Amino acid sequence: MVDRQLRRRGISDERVLEAMSRVPRELFVPESMRELSYDDGALPIGFGQTISQPYIVGAIATLLELSGDERVLDVGTGSGYQAAVLAELASDVVTVERVPELVDCARAALAHTGYDRVEVRLGDGSLGVSERAPFDAVAVAAAAPSVPGALYEQLAEGGRLVVPRGSRLGQELVQVVKTEDGPVERASVPCRFVPLVGAGGFGRE
Ligand code: SAH
Repeated sequence: MVDRQLRRRGISDERVLEAMSRVPRELFVPESMRELSYDDGALPIGFGQTISQPYIVGAIATLLELSGDERVLDVGTGSGYQAAVLAELASDVVTVERVPELVDCARAALAHTGYDRVEVRLGDGSLGVSERAPFDAVAVAAAAPSVPGALYEQLAEGGRLVVPRGSRLGQELVQVVKTEDGPVERASVPCRFVPLVGAGGFGRE
């Protein structure tokens, strides 16, 4: 996976590649899908949700520019896989999911794989987690029509927010850096995520 799907496609940050080679992806997918764990795509995890394609997880992790001692917010826990990758790259990870059953599954998978220092919360992640702010980096694993304002506000100065921005049908991964002069944006690869619902996303579903 690391060589064929990541390195060959231009993911070159060695820390990201190492992190992704350490996290056992098969332990974050439903048992019936285990043999597809390292396929080049997203996989269903139930409740209409998916575990993201490895390449996209690598792209998000790269754009967060983590060096090891950051506090990170991960919005859209899903399986917990991306939170585990982020835990390899930063010191403190808080992740938020709105589907209670997925929160339970992700907590179990993170505990089983030794990432129980990741804090998994149930709630509307589009509003962030104000009592744990500011964050050095925020990853959003669901599509938003625009950069969620609360998430930008909860960034530390110099902090990076990565979000798939666009319509429900297709988005572009965008890196937003918080600066003294306001947000500085950089567009990256095209992608397709499930929608971010909630106040800072596409609204209620
Ligand atoms: N990072 C995940 C991918 C999950 S897909 C992984 O590695 O497996 C996106 C997830 O975002 C879904 O589980 C969905 O339920 C969740 N989601 C969508 N809107 C949300 C919101 N407002 N707050 C929290 N989670 C949300």
